[in-house]
Amino acid sequence: MPELNLILFGPPGAGKGTQAERLERDFQLPFISTGDMLRGNVKNETDLGKKAKQFMDAGDLVPDDLIVAMAGERLQHKDAQDGFILDGFPRTLEQAGALDKQLSGVGRRVTAALLIDVPDDDVIRRLSGRRMCVKSGHNYHVEFDPPKHEGVCDQDGSRLVQRDDDKPEVIENRLKVYHEQTEPLVEHYDEQGLMRRIDGTRPAAEVNDHIRAVIATLRLEEDV
Ligand code: ADP
Ligand code: ADP
Repeated sequence: MPELNLILFGPPGAGKGTQAERLERDFQLPFISTGDMLRGNVKNETDLGKKAKQFMDAGDLVPDDLIVAMAGERLQHKDAQDGFILDGFPRTLEQAGALDKQLSGVGRRVTAALLIDVPDDDVIRRLSGRRMCVKSGHNYHVEFDPPKHEGVCDQDGSRLVQRDDDKPEVIENRLKVYHEQTEPLVEHYDEQGLMRRIDGTRPAAEVNDHIRAVIATLRLEEDV
């Protein structure tokens, strides 16, 4: 079986986490979210968490050296040796270069970058209605994906909260940061022929079908 080293990217609120959770189930690949890893560090008050918090609260990117070290270490774990789905990394050209270098150092490469494309207006609607389970980070939406009981996670009964960085003033900055620092990655992966675009405005199940079709094609191409 050829290995699938996938990057999921797109603006904040595009549905990366929602899709990654489904793909992890469907393809048995580890789902590595730098946002989740950072929130874990903040919660546990680690040194990294203390350094990252101020950037996250403002909707700014955490400095590249911290992220590259954290993600690089995670990718060396055994479960990531036969493939992975990265969510939220790389987010700058410098991070993309570091990832390419780490992978090529061990004879591996990125298989494809999947861009979940959603316009700014939808992003704002999605982020302002997003609710997250305090325990395991499952995402809901007050309108598009409401839990069975308001304010309670369907999967583990924990409380649902609004993330601090999903407040309107921070959302605006996160979008700006995305356009300025992360969008240049589209060209980076386009040049390598690795970019696949997905219309993220469709309902989550349709987005999932599209991504699965793209991955099935990639598998066939890798087999040839
Ligand atoms: P979203 O899912 O809304 O796109 P994330 O959960 O991925 O957001 O990230 C939350 C915050 O964590 C970001 O706003 C940023 O401060 C920080 N972060 C996550 N991944 C990275 C990264 N690769 N580089 C720099 N900062 C990051
Ligand atoms: P990201 O990880 O890219 O920041 P999430 O997966 O957390 O995005 O999704 C952001 C919000 O939008 C969540 O509240 C989620 O329930 C909702 N959402 C995700 N995908 C869709 C979709 N296709 N249509 C409508 N809402 C969606």
